[in-house]
Amino acid sequence: MIPSVTLSNGAKMPIVGLGTWRAGDGKVTEAVKVAISAGYRHIDGAYVYENEEEVGAGICAMINQGVVKRDDLFIVSKLWCTFHIPSLVRGACEKTLSDLKLDYLDLYLMHFPMGAKPGDNVFPVDENNALISDGSNFLDTWEAMEKLVDDGLVKAIGISNFNKDQIEAILNKPGLKHKPVTNQIECHPYLTQEKLINYCYSKGISVTAYSPLGSPDRPWASTDEPSLLEDPKIKAIATKYNKTSAQVLIRFHIQRNVIVVAKSATPHRIKENFQVFDFELSEADMKTLLSFNNNWRGFDIKWASTHKDFPLNTEY
Ligand code: NDP
Repeated sequence: MIPSVTLSNGAKMPIVGLGTWRAGDGKVTEAVKVAISAGYRHIDGAYVYENEEEVGAGICAMINQGVVKRDDLFIVSKLWCTFHIPSLVRGACEKTLSDLKLDYLDLYLMHFPMGAKPGDNVFPVDENNALISDGSNFLDTWEAMEKLVDDGLVKAIGISNFNKDQIEAILNKPGLKHKPVTNQIECHPYLTQEKLINYCYSKGISVTAYSPLGSPDRPWASTDEPSLLEDPKIKAIATKYNKTSAQVLIRFHIQRNVIVVAKSATPHRIKENFQVFDFELSEADMKTLLSFNNNWRGFDIKWASTHKDFPLNTEY
């Protein structure tokens, strides 16, 4: 049994999942197959990763080979910003389902609270390189996502990159039918998110951590930025447990009951990142890891900072 977090809809979401962003170049099908063979049951994808057909090929191969059944798996995708206009939501979800070759998703997240101008360009920007809004209201987008649950396309819906006020707006929406089951946010020892996590937990919303290793392959990384995987203080903790820094960084979330999605397209790392259920960080080491918080973000999403629904301009 893989440890899981019980969501507010009663579903169990495996606490460790495989991330698939930037796992392209023909590698992601194999990555998904290796992960499922190693015991992963939760795969985190998104339309905007532009690799859902490859992800789906890996999932379907494992189902067809009898390694797993569809309902052993927890498959997550995300509605991209250019599909926030309510009439576009269903088509976007159907495209993801058809690329994945699945007839339902376990969880569909609103990738960002910000709607962007529909069209072929997934990052529509103006002459100042600022994201062009579609003028939509994310509460209307949420209502269209609720219909996906009612129509059986998805089992649950959630949010990603939402701040407290934006979550509250959804929870207070008149006629709310389905609560978000999770908020997927950047989280690691440099960005511990204590206030936002406590707020989500107080509302019965689980939290999923993305970029748990600090997203070292993010294209905009610069050499003067801190590195979680290279941090000597984190390495020292890992050495004590005879584990790697990556394993400590993943385990950190499990002990906070935070769901965690780490990405690797390298078979031995995919397996390494799942060997996290056979040790426990001491309370003192958890406190030490939490003390590294310096509110550093790999994803400061500056390209969206002028958008009316930019989420990162409040304390949390
Ligand atoms: P991660 O923090 O998971 O880091 C991924 C990088 O770490 C890759 O370069 C990978 O290399 C490397 N790596 C993986 N395992 C190890 C290991 N054991 N030792 C050393 N290096 C390792 O970054 P991501 O930003 O990809 O975040 C994870 C997932 O979260 C994404 O893939 C995506 O699914 C989701 N996400 C969601 C976002 C959102 O807005 N909702 C935003 C960003 C991410 P390699 O692949 O070469 O092995």
